[in-house]
Amino acid sequence: MDILAIVSEEVKEIFSSVICDDSVSLEMLERDVLDAARQLGRKVLEECFSARATDVSPVSVDCPDCKGTLRRFRQCRRYVETLCGAVRVSRWVYRCDGCGHYHVPWDADEGLKDGYTVSVAKAMCRLSARMDFREASEELAHHGIRISHTMLQQKVQQWSEGMSVSDYVNQQALEVGSRWYVSADGVHTLAQDGTYHEVKVGCLYRDYPQLDLKSVASARTKSLRYVACQSDAASFGEQWFDLATASGIYNDATDSEEVVVIGDGAAWIWNLSEEYFPGAVEIVDYMHAKSHLYDVAKQAFGETSRDTIEDWVKTTEPFLFAGDTQEVIVRIRALGVGNSTLSEMLQREAGYFQKHAKRMQYQRFVENGYHIGSGLIESACKHVVAQRCKQASMKWSRTGINAILFWRCLLKNGASDAFWDKQSNAA
Ligand SMILES: [Zn+2]
Repeated sequence: MDILAIVSEEVKEIFSSVICDDSVSLEMLERDVLDAARQLGRKVLEECFSARATDVSPVSVDCPDCKGTLRRFRQCRRYVETLCGAVRVSRWVYRCDGCGHYHVPWDADEGLKDGYTVSVAKAMCRLSARMDFREASEELAHHGIRISHTMLQQKVQQWSEGMSVSDYVNQQALEVGSRWYVSADGVHTLAQDGTYHEVKVGCLYRDYPQLDLKSVASARTKSLRYVACQSDAASFGEQWFDLATASGIYNDATDSEEVVVIGDGAAWIWNLSEEYFPGAVEIVDYMHAKSHLYDVAKQAFGETSRDTIEDWVKTTEPFLFAGDTQEVIVRIRALGVGNSTLSEMLQREAGYFQKHAKRMQYQRFVENGYHIGSGLIESACKHVVAQRCKQASMKWSRTGINAILFWRCLLKNGASDAFWDKQSNAA
């Protein structure tokens, strides 16, 4: 049947029920028209899907499981979830004359994801990335897509299996006068057994020391890319590095390419930095270093001696900023003289400044236009991870949280369309 004929017939029938007079409120009219449009869309899709499913199906195809041949066995109906609602489609089921397996090539060839169109699958993943599964399920129902929150969770988890964020980021060119920054941090989320596990978050951005503050902020934000996963440092490191190279770091093979690593004091960050970004300018976040001065003063003077603590930090901080960690260490050790317990505790803090001395040349960094703060990665811990994964009573399995982190990073990286385009093209 001619699709135009169907449409015009359906339009007449469906829209005849829409009452357009003054007794009907604008809101009801809007709702009726929208319902009618969806109904019409569903009918049109049903015709189109069925036509494609029967017309283009070859009589026989090769079996993907063996060397046998799949032959048309019988036509079978199923429902496909579309943005216009469930659409019934009849397509050929094939049976292999070798291994006897049944296959429905049409579903895979058309890129259906377990009976959902890509548009529906996309909405399922996007909403689940942004809100908890119950809310996402309610939101989908509001748009006529019915799926339970447990099925939703199962599907978004399944579709992210084996996927990697770095496969869907675009290359960025490092312009003259700009620098690469990479950064990492950790945030703890609750596991199903009631213990806390660390999610590691990595980000990357370009910065332009020569631009004014306002232009820098917008250029930086545009270039920001994230990766996050609950894993050990080694496997996070691979993903962090993949994100960096996929985004363009080390691709120019020019010596002038400058990479800066910013982090707090966590040992895994600096081990990975050495492994993957050798020769990078390394900077320990200034606020973290300063907070260690407070820790020292609190241990030495007691938590309640606020004025003494403030005075000591105030007189010591200029040495920290100047990069004179030796003087900082001398001042720390002086506090422990004559008190062996305190002296031992302070030795650990002195060790922190000793270990990171090269990463604390703040004045020189600032003079050369480097950032000395890891604010961007700290805020990433909040908006990439905590906002979705640390809500009241949320407990996660490793697979479950990594699936959601994959979808969230995809959204934050502006790579959602790239992902689904690839999925459609692969079909
Ligand atoms: Zn076979």
